Amino acid sequence: MKPARFDYVHAESIAHAVEALAGAGGDGKVLAGGQSLMPMMNFRLVKPSVLVDINRIPGLDCITHEAGVLRLGALVRHRMTAEDGLVARHIPVLHAAMKHVAHLTVRNRGTFCGSVCHADPAAEMPMMTLLLDGTVHIASPRGDRTMAARDFLVGSLSTALEPDEMVVAVDLAIPEDGTGWAFEEFSRRHGDYALAAVAVLMARADGRMRNVRIAMMGIADTALRFADVEAALEGREGTPAAFDEAAALLQAAIQPNSDLNASADYRRHLAGALARRALAEAWQRTGEATG
Ligand code: FAD
Repeated sequence: MKPARFDYVHAESIAHAVEALAGAGGDGKVLAGGQSLMPMMNFRLVKPSVLVDINRIPGLDCITHEAGVLRLGALVRHRMTAEDGLVARHIPVLHAAMKHVAHLTVRNRGTFCGSVCHADPAAEMPMMTLLLDGTVHIASPRGDRTMAARDFLVGSLSTALEPDEMVVAVDLAIPEDGTGWAFEEFSRRHGDYALAAVAVLMARADGRMRNVRIAMMGIADTALRFADVEAALEGREGTPAAFDEAAALLQAAIQPNSDLNASADYRRHLAGALARRALAEAWQRTGEATG
């Protein structure tokens, strides 16, 4: 299939890009890596009248470390996130997750921010942004604003972004030194979209779990955090019984969909098994130096 007709704008700056989006009257689309947008256009699932190419806007292709966060600009490709030394050192759980993202050709072009904007329920980047208490930096002709990832991600392929807005960067909060982490995913073949995945962060103090964070994907219309289960683990000893209880709570909290790849029951089973494994791994890693 070929896409429907569209006008093409080669944006030279962020201001130029958001003006072009505003000029499209709600019908423009940002082109970042194109790895999700172009197939959707070719299948005519989306038919933007204007495509705003941000690929040559200077200054958006950097990962920077500032005040407790890593900032990933809108043109940071998956390959860069996977190979970046700052990511590996400061956020090892993200470094581990990136190994599961697609194949080399897709990783060479696809962008972290583009994935967060695309909001696929089985994509690693929205889930990691939730886990890491991410903040989304947004520009529009009306000025700049920021939004917490939990408010930004609304549902399947759906975000709180307005049609004349573009995401400029995403900030990920760096976990404290010694935070235990784990990322567990199941997909049919390496690099395929996951059937389910679980990521965990936790600290250990006085032999007990503290600041537990759990994110999952593939089990609902969007990636999710589980505040109730996180709270239930707070102050508990890291025992197999505690992990079993948490896994059961998570399984009860989710309502996965059935589709061609897996039934809802199978996804619920996977979620429990992956959660149990991830919690135990993260507990084991607590206290390891990351800096
Ligand atoms: P694009 O395709 O350019 O854009 C996607 C959407 O986001 C569009 O609506 C676009 O307008 C919008 N957008 C992009 N950037 C911005 C911005 N800065 N501001 C506002 N809107 C923006 N992903 C995974 O997570 N895991 C996988 O295992 C995986 N496997 C894949 C396998 C294949 C074969 C393919 C083709 C893709 C796969 N992907 C996977 C998707 C890939 O990660 C995409 O790169 C990603 O979803 C979108 O990033 P992009 O930069 O290509 O965005």
